[in-house]
Amino acid sequence: MVGRTPQYPAPLASPSVLRVALPTPLRRVFDYLPGRERPTAGWVPGLRVRVPFGRREMVGVVVEVAADSDFELAKLKPIAALIDQTPLPEEWLWLCRFTARYYQHSLGDTLAHAMPALLRQGRPLEARTRERWRCTPEGAALDPATLRQAKRQGELLGLLQQHTAGLVGSAVLAHGFARPQLEGLRAKGLVECEEEPLTRAVQPGTPTLAEPSLTLNREQGEALAALHEGLGRFSPSLLHGVTGSGKTEVYLQLIEAVLDRGGQALVLVPEIGLTPQTLERFRRRFSVPVVMIHSGVSDGERLDVWEAARSGRARVVVGTRSAIFTPMEKLGAIIVDEEHDASFKQQEGLRYSARDLAVVRARREQLPVVLGSATPSLESLAHASRGHYRHLKLNRRAGSASFARLELVDLRIKRREGGLGQESIEAIKTQLDAGHQVLVFINRRGFAPTLSCQQCGHIFDCPSCDARMTLHRQPPRLVCHHCDHQAPLPDACPKCASGDLRPLGAGTERTEETLQARFPDARILRIDRDSTRRKDALSDALDEVRSARPCILVGTQMLAKGHHFPHVTLVVVVNADGGLYSSDFRALEQSAQLLVQVAGRAGRAALPGRVLIQTMHPDDPNLRLLASQGYDVLAERLLDERRAAGLPPFRFIALLRAEAADQASVETLLAQGAGQLRAWLIERELPVDCLGPVPAPMERRQNRYHAQLMLAADRRSQLHEAAAWLVAWLEDAPLARKVRWSIDIDPLSL
Ligand code: ADP
Ligand code: ZN
Ligand code: ZN
Repeated sequence: MVGRTPQYPAPLASPSVLRVALPTPLRRVFDYLPGRERPTAGWVPGLRVRVPFGRREMVGVVVEVAADSDFELAKLKPIAALIDQTPLPEEWLWLCRFTARYYQHSLGDTLAHAMPALLRQGRPLEARTRERWRCTPEGAALDPATLRQAKRQGELLGLLQQHTAGLVGSAVLAHGFARPQLEGLRAKGLVECEEEPLTRAVQPGTPTLAEPSLTLNREQGEALAALHEGLGRFSPSLLHGVTGSGKTEVYLQLIEAVLDRGGQALVLVPEIGLTPQTLERFRRRFSVPVVMIHSGVSDGERLDVWEAARSGRARVVVGTRSAIFTPMEKLGAIIVDEEHDASFKQQEGLRYSARDLAVVRARREQLPVVLGSATPSLESLAHASRGHYRHLKLNRRAGSASFARLELVDLRIKRREGGLGQESIEAIKTQLDAGHQVLVFINRRGFAPTLSCQQCGHIFDCPSCDARMTLHRQPPRLVCHHCDHQAPLPDACPKCASGDLRPLGAGTERTEETLQARFPDARILRIDRDSTRRKDALSDALDEVRSARPCILVGTQMLAKGHHFPHVTLVVVVNADGGLYSSDFRALEQSAQLLVQVAGRAGRAALPGRVLIQTMHPDDPNLRLLASQGYDVLAERLLDERRAAGLPPFRFIALLRAEAADQASVETLLAQGAGQLRAWLIERELPVDCLGPVPAPMERRQNRYHAQLMLAADRRSQLHEAAAWLVAWLEDAPLARKVRWSIDIDPLSL
């Protein structure tokens, strides 16, 4: 999966041609002539340039310096400007090249995706700085009261005298002072100002830890010892430990060892898991700079973080998916927490897996990489069982917490209210009476998944999708969760005019309403995408949960991961059946992971927990196995099934997805592509299966038709050869201009 170190030729004194990758979907690079400006260290790959492209100018990256071009030199244009004097880091460029090749994506687009927006726009690479103001020796010695003529200046001098390390400009302004007062003091020689990078380098001799680490239990200790042994070389490990078994503590102590050796660490976390608490935990432990990268970070900050990481000043980088592209001068280890989480795979554009790239990067840079999870992906389990990854297990919960057993609740016969069976309601009552907290997990927002006519059975579908409209009550309306189409609530059935319209099934709003009616005195907190639109709504609710007062939490996925609810003693899963009979081969794995994650919220402190899983299929063998024997045993069985069916991780697949407003174009294009590809595969004697085309699981979405073609092979290289051929064919196919298509290597969902 990994390429060889590219041997760059020595910089050419006056090269004829620069090959430039540009942020376009086109899978090719563009030739330009060097301009009059010459980089001080000569032309090398990784330098950003501005080039004319059509009628505009674009920022691109030189990826090759060549002696000649396939085009006539006289027809090539010179670049418009050179942006950098130092190239982007070589290892970063390598990772981008690998990513583009592996995921069959345009290199220019990949590079653009992997760099901060400001670099993409052509901003210089140098770190942004800030001003730090401090007293001069004269200023430190002067009594501020002597500045009677300038009272505010006197007060400002007093403030700076209290801060011997100085204050940054923004902090001075935050204290209510203004720039002229600073300038006034500077003119008098009483204060001075210095530019400093936003993330400051650690002073030599600073201890790594800001707080002592915990004493590890035996299992943790063994895992850490194994990880220590892998420092300084490529050594992938699967840290497989139940929720609360102390994986994070092991990461922290591994990072400590990396920092002590002068290295940096990169920690990838799922989108939903990057809570302020996570970051807080890392910042509390270490005295070195810990920085964060996620989609909410501003463009300016992102550039600072990138620069701080690249130069080695930021020592720990914690981030979501895209952080895998952070260049790091002295990277010593990569950690991927909750490695099974789907958010590590980008689902549009450049469809990369940050988890998989973490392993690729670790091999390239000769580093340990730790994939941690309570419910590892079948891919990682297969790697571990083949001996590619070291399998480190933590079977006990750290501290005193005990385990919750999963209990299946049969919903078929019993009366239900708002999605909840009688048994669940009683269990909730018991816990509330005891003064505990309860979590009700329901993976559907809104009031009810459908509205239906009692007279004729009419169901309200989205006009643009093959999907039902979800009923919402707050505010009242019908919403399509796939295209966001909204409609007012109907008074009557459009088919038979009956007014007897009833909600079918339950979503978070309905469950909340039912619980409130049943437990009028209980505090109920609903947490879903709708209830947390207001900024701070989520953190306010979580603060309340942490206060330990009795309450019922009703929520979606948002509650399943990352958060610790030590006072929750009962978890009720309203409907476990979603993934049981899906057409997607990964659905079972994913829903088992989710159930275990949700169950892991209960009984984290000294209180034992109960987990009730409601189902209409209490006899389902997979569900029973999960409840009685746990995830690991179920995973083994699922792996056997995948092997027998010839599915990943035992074969490799790629999915070509296509969509267009008119159904015929999509079908014709894919049928032609499949036909051509099959002929080529036979001619090349390449054992790759080409399956389909078939309509996508939801064929019509926003009035566009979706279809797909699947490629499957025993070897990655074969799959790639076939995918590359298909992509090249599509780029030239006239019909493909009317169709939007994309290739997804190692797709997570079908
Ligand atoms: P995980 O990441 O596996 O969910 P954590 O590292 O968050 O587990 O640990 C769960 C809880 O147990 C945390 O409150 C943590 O502080 C505590 N903990 C972890 N390791 C130890 C230990 N060796 N001794 C005491 N408490 C521990
Ligand atoms: Zn009707
Ligand atoms: Zn829709």
